[in-house]
Amino acid sequence: MKAAIYYSPKKIKVEDVPLPKIKPGEVLLKVRACGLCGTDISKIIERRVPPGTVLGHEVAGDIIKMGTPGRKKMGTVPLWTVPNFFKIGDRVTVLHHIPCFKCRFCRHGNFSSCPQFKKTNIYPGGFSEYVRIPSLNVRFGMQKLGSLSYEEGALVEGAGCSLRAFKRANFQKGDSVVIIGMGPVGLLHLLMAKAFGASKIIACDINDYRLKKAKELGADMAIKPAQACPCADLALVSVGVPEAIENAAKYVRSGGTVLVFAECSDKARVTISPNLIYHEMSLIGSYSSTPAEQKTCLNFIKSGKLPVKKLITHRLKLSEISKAVRLSRDGGKTLKIIIVFDKL
Ligand SMILES: [Zn+2]
Ligand SMILES: [Zn+2]
Repeated sequence: MKAAIYYSPKKIKVEDVPLPKIKPGEVLLKVRACGLCGTDISKIIERRVPPGTVLGHEVAGDIIKMGTPGRKKMGTVPLWTVPNFFKIGDRVTVLHHIPCFKCRFCRHGNFSSCPQFKKTNIYPGGFSEYVRIPSLNVRFGMQKLGSLSYEEGALVEGAGCSLRAFKRANFQKGDSVVIIGMGPVGLLHLLMAKAFGASKIIACDINDYRLKKAKELGADMAIKPAQACPCADLALVSVGVPEAIENAAKYVRSGGTVLVFAECSDKARVTISPNLIYHEMSLIGSYSSTPAEQKTCLNFIKSGKLPVKKLITHRLKLSEISKAVRLSRDGGKTLKIIIVFDKL
């Protein structure tokens, strides 16, 4: 099978690799669509993964093979590792990381810090014709697409991350939000804010095209970083720039929340008055999502509440992966890129 192998920021090659073998409880998925995520780009640019890695985690596809259903024990309760719920030919989307729900990180809701969360992953990666889905991911992270298209299915994972951010910020119906950075992720937050019933959505970016897009998708106001901004309940930073976090602290009301939703360079530092925090401003972050958030988002998308399809600007083939990375890095008029594998 073909897979896109990362070697260096400028070298990603599509090569032949062996088809993954599956064990009892696992599933072999024929990938039909895989989204290119901002985290894939930062892993490439910042060289955060070793050469030889296959990136991509926003997958949707068809079940083409299932391992024999084995019985596995979890505590005293025997569980079927492949529930009868799935069958060959099912169109599904799957979450790539599954937390254990019982360690100290999980007990405090920091699921992405759970050791199991980091270990469970689809293999070799979504930018590949086929992926192996480990049994834990099958049990807890796989969902039938139903009426959704493959590309909508590929957008469920990212939507789950956005939903988690709003939940962590305790965002309530009627709250106002300023979103800084209107790339594909910022625009996804905008759609999520609407789904949550935000009273006012302020979009902030330096790029006119993206501000225009934000207006089209329902932003009440579009501003540039230097412009004045009415104080919001929540400032969501979806761009990996430290100054944007400092600005966000100026954009929230007293006691409001600044939520960091983008990775900066490891050397980045921010300067914020401690008195803002003393006056109960919350400075928090949100990373990744959980099976529960994924389920909610799948239903949001099905119900039409979250029209994620509007964010797609490019559908490219696996052989065009380098072009996809280039387009995404350059920003401009590129929003969400989906790598498609025939039969959409
Ligand atoms: Zn992602
Ligand atoms: Zn855990």
